[in-house]
Amino acid sequence: MQRIYLSPPHMSGLEQTFVQEAFDTNWIAPFGPHVDAFESEFAAQVGAAHACAISSATAGLHLSLILTGVERGDEVVVSDLTFAASVNPILYQGARPVFVDSEPGTWNMDPQLLAELLEQRARVGKLPKAVIVVHLYGQSADLDPILAACDRYGIPLIEDAAEALGATYKGHTPGVLGRMGVYSFNGNKIITTSGGGMLVSADAQLIAHARKLATQARDPAPHYQHSEVGYNYRLSNVLAAIGRGQIRVLEERVATRRHHFETYHRALHALPGVDFMPEAAFGRSSRWLTVVTFDPKESGVDRELVRLALEAKNIESRPVWKPMHLQPVFATCECAGGSVGEHLFEHGLCLPSGSNMTQQDLHRVVDTIRTVFKQSGHGRVADEHCVDALVKISDPVTVD
Ligand SMILES: *Cc1c(COP(=O)(O)O)cnc(C)c1O
Repeated sequence: MQRIYLSPPHMSGLEQTFVQEAFDTNWIAPFGPHVDAFESEFAAQVGAAHACAISSATAGLHLSLILTGVERGDEVVVSDLTFAASVNPILYQGARPVFVDSEPGTWNMDPQLLAELLEQRARVGKLPKAVIVVHLYGQSADLDPILAACDRYGIPLIEDAAEALGATYKGHTPGVLGRMGVYSFNGNKIITTSGGGMLVSADAQLIAHARKLATQARDPAPHYQHSEVGYNYRLSNVLAAIGRGQIRVLEERVATRRHHFETYHRALHALPGVDFMPEAAFGRSSRWLTVVTFDPKESGVDRELVRLALEAKNIESRPVWKPMHLQPVFATCECAGGSVGEHLFEHGLCLPSGSNMTQQDLHRVVDTIRTVFKQSGHGRVADEHCVDALVKISDPVTVD
């Protein structure tokens, strides 16, 4: 049985034309016309004023922290439930992360907890230098109250939108509403350049400075002259060519992933103890990954039982991110709240969601999960719903 991956790359065919062009013109360089074109096409797609193509979202977050003046000993507030790459750049700067738990309705940063934390810090006269909000699994955080809390104290908001390209928040793409936003084109994201990222901002000077820092911080001089520390963080012209092919099919990719979500939902939602990541009323989730929670108290089926059953059928799935406050590397860091993220980590599982999955692939995942429920002593319940769902899964699904 062929392996079903969580979220593999999905090329459109257009990429090769652009890559061929890079070869034909010998622009096998870290700069070149595809980089400029990709930046402006990407900026137009997300509604950003300015964009700088970079080697990864991690690099983009690092640049964002440098550009907001984060230094040794500073505090930076960041979402607790996320991938370590949201946090590591804080450590690169010698600063200290302070984590904020999720809210149940979006699974993203709880705006109330953030507001309380900033209020407390203001009282003791020690405000954080920046806030990094993460938009998880294709869904935006509730940005308005988060921005309001930051604005009250003049703290810049950096958006980690690595997982949120294609999502909306009140008609905007998450990533463009903060001081700076970062996207990822890693191999498992909704579009990919194999590796890469984009840094966006409404501030032209910030992006110009980012571009300079990302290319070894050369001063404008004919010789090599440097008056600040630079980095090698730019995206190459060849990878930008792949990105140009990918950005053109973003909307199709979102539609397909939302379709997969609907298919999973219809086939599995009636199983006891099964719940899906909610979609907040303020916008559209790209459903980058379909995420399900399993409550063993209701069914006897826990997340690990399902994950191992899928693995036995050569199907990749992943537990929800392990909260940062539980990570050994960040064990001494402060965290506001924490129980929401802990609960999601314990019960949540990301299902294969690639836009190139076939209907048969979806069936294989669904059947495997149903079998777990049948064998767990809830067979009767599962069977009833399974028959129901089997009819439904082959129906055409419409998604807005
Ligand atoms: C993937 C990811 C990153 C890192 O992206 P890279 O481009 O691989 O550096 C950062 N934050 C989140 C939330 C991610 O999912």
